[in-house]
Amino acid sequence: MLWTVQSALRPETLAAPAGNDHDEGFRHPHRLKAGPDAVQIHLRRAANRLSFAAMPDPLPSLSPAELARYSRHIMLGEIGVEGQRRLKAAKVLVVGAGGLGSPAALYLAAAGVGTLGIADFDRVEAHNLPRQLLHDSDSVGERKTASAARRLRLTNPFIDVVEHAEGVTPANVIELFGAYDVIVDGTDTFATRYLNNDAAVLARRPLVYGSIFRFEGQVTVFDPAQGGPCYRCLFPTPPPAGSVPNCGEAGVLGALCGVIGSLQAVEAIKLVTGIGDTLRGRLLTYDTLAQSFRTLQIARDPACPVCGPHPAIREIRTENYSFDCSTSEPAPMAITEYPLEIPVTDAKRLLDTAPDRTLLIDVREPHELEICRVEGAEAIPMRQIPAQLGILPKDRHLLIMCHSGGRSMRVTEYLRANGYPAVSNVGGGINAWADQIEPAMRRY
Ligand code: ZN
Repeated sequence: MLWTVQSALRPETLAAPAGNDHDEGFRHPHRLKAGPDAVQIHLRRAANRLSFAAMPDPLPSLSPAELARYSRHIMLGEIGVEGQRRLKAAKVLVVGAGGLGSPAALYLAAAGVGTLGIADFDRVEAHNLPRQLLHDSDSVGERKTASAARRLRLTNPFIDVVEHAEGVTPANVIELFGAYDVIVDGTDTFATRYLNNDAAVLARRPLVYGSIFRFEGQVTVFDPAQGGPCYRCLFPTPPPAGSVPNCGEAGVLGALCGVIGSLQAVEAIKLVTGIGDTLRGRLLTYDTLAQSFRTLQIARDPACPVCGPHPAIREIRTENYSFDCSTSEPAPMAITEYPLEIPVTDAKRLLDTAPDRTLLIDVREPHELEICRVEGAEAIPMRQIPAQLGILPKDRHLLIMCHSGGRSMRVTEYLRANGYPAVSNVGGGINAWADQIEPAMRRY
C-alpha cells in the first residue's frame, strides 16, 4: 500500500542552510541537496527491513501478557504480531545514556525491543537532569548505565537490558557493535561520533544518528551497507580543535532532546520492523525556534575514507580517535617559554607564587560567574576580548579560564596570534579547578 501526501512546504523551507554555525557546520553544503516538496509515506514491508543474520527462525513467540501489553502496536496492521516478534528478537544498542539516549532508550524499551544495550562510561550529574530523563534526582553520582537500566527495567520487565559501563572505546567497539543489530548514537563529542560511524561501517550495522546544538537538532540513518552515506561522507575529517563548542559549553534546550531522541527511536523501530522509509540518504533537521522541520538529501561520497571503494580506514586504531573538540587538543604553536595549556594545579601555583607576574582571566559569561568564580580572577567575557587588545598587560603571564577549557583555548590562541606570547589556557577550566583546587565550589 502506498500513498502520497503533498505537503504545503514552501521551497525556501527546503533550501540548504546558509551560514549555519551548527556544530556540524554544514562544511560540505554541496553534498546537501534540497529535498522534494512532497512527503511520501510508504507503508511497505521489506524495503528497509534489516536482514538480520542472527534473526532467529522462527521468531520468538509472545506470551499472553506481552500480547496484551503491545496490543496498540499489534493493532497497527503494518506492525502486527510479526512486527512485534521482530522487535522482541531485535538487539539495539544505545550509545550514550544522555539527552538523546534517554528518550530513545525509553521508547525502545517500551516498544518491546528484546535486547537493549546501554553504553556509557559516565556518571549522573545534577546538570544532566533537565534533559536526561532516564535519571532522576536520586541518581546523581550513580553510573548512568545502572541508573538507566533500573528505569528501563521498570518501564518494561519483559526485555533484557544490558549495561556496558565501560562505554564505547576503540578497543571494544567492533565486538560491541557486532553483537547488536542497530546502533543508536546519542553521543555528543566528535571523537565518539567518528568512532561510532567508522565502527558501524566496518561492522556493517545501521547507525541511527542524532545531534543537538542549542535550539536545533538533526537526525539521519547512516547505512552504507544498504547504499546510504555515512557520517564521513558528509564530514570527512573533524573540525579544527576548539573551532566549535560542545553542548556543555553552548547550552541546549532540554525538550529538544525529547524530539530528536524520539525520532531516533522511531527510525530504529522502522529498521527492525521494516515499515516505512527510513532517513537513509536524508538528513532531517529541526529548528525549535522557527518550529520547522526540513529534509535534505545527503549523498554518498565516492571518495569517503571509510565507506568508499578505496577506504583509507580499514580498522579502528585508537590514535585516530583521541581528538576531543570539547577540550581542544593543542594546536601548533609558536616556540615560546609559555606553554599553550597548563593544568589547574600549575595555574594555582603560579598565582600563589608570582601574583604580580600572573593574571587569571575568566572568559565565561556573567550568568556563569554567578554560579562560581575563582577569587581574584579578572572577568572578561570572550566576546569582549578583541576590544582588550593593547589594554591587557604584556608583562604578566595571562592564564585564560572558562568552563571546561574550550572557549579559553580559542581566546588563548587568539591572543597569541595578536601579539601576546605569554598566554596559557587553563586546561579543564573551572570544572577542573573545582575538582582539584576548590572541592566546595559550586558546579554546573
Ligand atoms: Zn562514507
